[in-house]
This record gives sequence, structure tokens and C-alpha cells, in this order.
Amino acid sequence: MCGIIGYIGKKNSIPRLINGLKTLEYRGYDSAGIAYVKDNKIKIIKEAGKIANLEKLLEDKDSSNIGIGHTRWATHGGATSNNAHPHKQGHITLVHNGIIENYQELKDMLIDNGYKFNSDTDTEVACAYIDYLYRENKDIVESLDKCNSIFKGSYAFGIIVDDDYDSLYAVRKNSPLIIGIGDNENYIASDVPAILDYTNKYTLLNNYDIAKITKDKVTVYNNLKEVSKDILTYNIDKSVRDINGYDHYMLKEINEQSIILNNLIKNYDSKDKILKNIKDYTKYNKIFIVACGSAYHAGVVSKYMIEKYADIEVNVEIASEFRYKKLFIDNNTLVIAISQSGETADTLASVRIAKELGAHTLGIINVEESSIAREVDDVIYTKAGIEVAVATTKGYTTQVFILSMLALSLAIRKNINIDKDIFNKIRLVPNLINSLLDRKYNYLTKILKKKNDIFFLGRNIDYASVLEASLKLKEITYIHSEAYAAGELKHGTISLIEDDTPVISLVTNKDIAEKTISNIKETIARGAYSIIIATKDIDIPKDSYNDLIRIDRTVDLLQPILNIIPLQLIAYNVAKSKGCDIDKPRNLAKSVTVE
Ligand code: GLU
Repeated sequence: MCGIIGYIGKKNSIPRLINGLKTLEYRGYDSAGIAYVKDNKIKIIKEAGKIANLEKLLEDKDSSNIGIGHTRWATHGGATSNNAHPHKQGHITLVHNGIIENYQELKDMLIDNGYKFNSDTDTEVACAYIDYLYRENKDIVESLDKCNSIFKGSYAFGIIVDDDYDSLYAVRKNSPLIIGIGDNENYIASDVPAILDYTNKYTLLNNYDIAKITKDKVTVYNNLKEVSKDILTYNIDKSVRDINGYDHYMLKEINEQSIILNNLIKNYDSKDKILKNIKDYTKYNKIFIVACGSAYHAGVVSKYMIEKYADIEVNVEIASEFRYKKLFIDNNTLVIAISQSGETADTLASVRIAKELGAHTLGIINVEESSIAREVDDVIYTKAGIEVAVATTKGYTTQVFILSMLALSLAIRKNINIDKDIFNKIRLVPNLINSLLDRKYNYLTKILKKKNDIFFLGRNIDYASVLEASLKLKEITYIHSEAYAAGELKHGTISLIEDDTPVISLVTNKDIAEKTISNIKETIARGAYSIIIATKDIDIPKDSYNDLIRIDRTVDLLQPILNIIPLQLIAYNVAKSKGCDIDKPRNLAKSVTVE
């Protein structure tokens, strides 16, 4: 969600800003803009829509040693070029990620003081307010420090000040921002991959840190005192961003799942490795899982796993709900926060609340050194590598894997009987994934692409899996879909089933397969077109489906990983046949850094 990039150095900032913004595209955005210094004046170019629209407006001959750029994911005001960032008020030119919650009262005060606004954004108000303070004290660090106590909400700002074109300024609270350290040049960016074409050295900013960045020096203040910062090195291989001949990043990332899980499994394929890599959490008598979107669905899968295998009560909560409800949490509670980006605003806020209530916090996170990774008591990285497509695939399956290993570690520590052959079976899973990857589902794609509503059914862990399948389908195909616990449909939603309404059911649990099949038949009796995905060991009566997709049986703990692969591919193929923007679906952002 939103990308910030900034450059100061000896080279031309403009191509670096554009390249940085393109690298940040995956986060989701609806407009883009840059500002740079030209003839000792600020020049702002911004446009609604894709970065390509912005590029059309650039002047080839322009060159500048300092600039800031932004991809906006609108929160306040439509996705128009006026509302796009950067904004300029008085001496301050600024890009912003986040939301200034008290912008209206600040705006009223600023209007009374003669400020006029060209946009509907909260950001322009922040820009004007910084200018208002700066006009009085002529000290930008002091002004930003004051803002830290005035602005409510979340923000990462990249700022150029009119009197000082040799410095970039940056400040953050609850929105991500890093400083890239180059050779006689420095950067600001929403994440490290945005600067990897130029440098892999970077510094993290804490909440309320204010940075003054020149081409050869970075000075960071907190509470007006200078603080020292470690310079970190980012080791990830840049080639993971290459699309490697695939039509879309999403397809590439679906295909990577067998390799990534194969690598991940190596750290968990024996009792000793599991006990070494996952701490002992058996002393907690209750577990809360907080997450959003697909990570929430991984949490629902693991609720079933942990309760079944480790005999511990698990509550899964949507983070945006968790943070505003009464919580029964104390120091006997383990709170697990799941987030691919590690920047999800609601999940981060939930971690803070959980810590205040005395809970122990564990993060299941992909992006290392992200905000949640830094704030939780313990973190387990999912090691999925950079995920570029907005719709998560490998991010989700690696979360499910780690949570399953957590369930197993709890079971082992509690001396609960586990299958003796479990680790051999776990090692086979990447091969089973591989065998599912080359299927195209052409016939099904033709049927589904014409539909307006698609329903998913499952019971128990299969229900948890179809929650994710339904989300995947709707986010990239724009077809309305809903996932239901198979027994629940008849309590209302079955009224929506008409002739040929597709109902996709997952049947992988032998013990309750008959129950699900009865529910499927209830939909067929009302005209549904039934598609069943079932493990090979379960008998599926011929009169319960129009199409049957078979998948292998593996250990229960990892079955949800196999379950989701065909469903990811079906969603992908339907979206492709509809000509959708698969890697960057409309309205969506990869890393949701606002509430
Ligand atoms: N709240 C700001 C706006 O709507 C910033 C949104 C963003 O993070 O891109 O302009």
C-alpha cells in the first residue's frame, strides 16, 4: 500500500525515482508522482493511474540530484491527479504513506491562518501544518518533532524543504520507511527491495525518528537528540524479482511453492530440528491468532491444527476487530500475529495491545526486520522470498507450513502421540505440490469465467482452506464468491443457488466426507453445477459432481497446502482468460499499512 522513494546524490534522481516506484508497484496504488529540484525550484509531476501515465509527462531533458516519489493508495479523496502526491505548501514538499486522523481540525485552523488547499487529502494538511510550524521556527527537525506529538494516525513522510535543497528529510510513525545508504548518495524507501538496484545497505527508522539525509551523511534524531543507527545489509538475491518467463508474477510464485517449501522443510524435518527452531509455548493455556486477509485464513487453518494436535484452545481474530473489542488476555496467553509484509497496520496495533495486556507475542512474518518482526517477543520467518503479486500464494502456504510446524512442536512437547512416519511424509510434500502445478483446468476455466457468483464449501480444515480459495478467486477475477462451512449453507445462503451456479467443494477429510457430500447434494437438488476437489482415498459418488479433481493425500498437518494449489491455479486461469490485471488487481494493496 503506497510507495515512497527519495534520492539525494550526484546522479540524476528522476530515473531512480521512477525505477524505485516501479519496484514498489506491487504494493498497490492508484496514482503516482514525483518532485525534484529544477532551476532552484521544486517541480512536481503527478498523474492518476499507472506509473506509465506519469512517465508520459516527464521531460527527457530534466535532471536533478534530489527528488521524492510516491505511489498513492487513496484513503482521503479520490484517485485524481490533484490528490496524488507530492503535495507542496509554502516551503514544504512532501510525500506521505498513512492517514492523519486529526486532519480536519488541523485543516480548519490552517484555513483560519490563510492556507488554501488544492486537494481533498489529509496529506496536504500535514504538509501545510509542517510549513506553518517551520515558518515560525525555521528549524525543520524541531517542526517535525512537534508534529510527532500533534499528528494522530500513521505516517511515513519524505520531505524536501525549500531553503535546503541539499537535504532530504524523513520521519515515520507506524508506516514503513527505510534509509538506503549508497556511495555518495542516499535513499529513502518504503522497503529495501526498492533500492536494491543501487545499494543493499540500509538503516531502519524507529517510530518518531526524524532523519536529515544529505548525499554523504544520515543524521537521525529522536526527541530532538541525535541517535546512532546500525547499517544493515540486505542479502536477498535480486533475481527473485525476475519474472523468469512466466506471464505473471502470480504464476511464478504459485510455481515456486514446491522449491520454497522444500527449503523450508529442511529446517523442520525431524523432532530435534522442530524443537530447536520453535520455542516451547506449552505453558500458555490459550492462544489468540490475529491477522488480516489470507494470513487470517492461514490462522483459521491452524486453529483446527493446533486444537486437534496440541489440545490447546485457539481463537482466531481479524486484527481490525481484535484491536477494538474486549479481550480476555493475560500473561498466560500466547498471541500469534501473522503478516506477510510485517507492516499490516491492524496486526501491528494488535501486537501492541496484546503486549500491554501482558501476553507473549509471536510473529509469523515473511519480511525480515519489518515492524511487526521487530516488535514481537519472538519471530519465525516464513522464508517465502519477495512476493510481488498482490494476491498471495507462496506467502500463504509458507504461513500454513510454519503454523503446522508450531502445532507439531506443541504436540511433541506435550508428548501427544504423532505418526512415526510423519517426517518422511512431510519430506514428500514438495513433490506432491509439483505434480499439481502443470494442470491448466481449461474446461473449468471456460465455465467459471462466465459466472457472476461462485460458492465454495468445506467442513473443518477444508472449510478453512476454501475461505482462502474464495478470496483468491474474487480478488483477481472480480467474480463474487463466498465460502461456507458446508453445513451452514442451508441456513440462508442456499436461496442463492440457481441453475448452473458453480459450487466448488473441498473433500479431504475421510471422517466427515459423507456429511459434506450430503450438503453438496442439497445444492445439486437446487440446480448447482458441482465441482469437487477430493483426495484420492475418498470415494466420491458419481451423482455428487459434474467435475471431479483429484489430489494426493498427505499428512493432515500439510494437507491444506496441497488443497489450495489447484484452487490458486483455477483462480489464476479464470482471471487470465478474463484479461484481468492479475498481479495488480484493482483497488488492492499488497502491504496494508493503514487501518
Ligand atoms: N492518506 C493519504 C492520501 O489519501 C496517503 C495515502 C497513501 O498511503 O498512499 O492521500
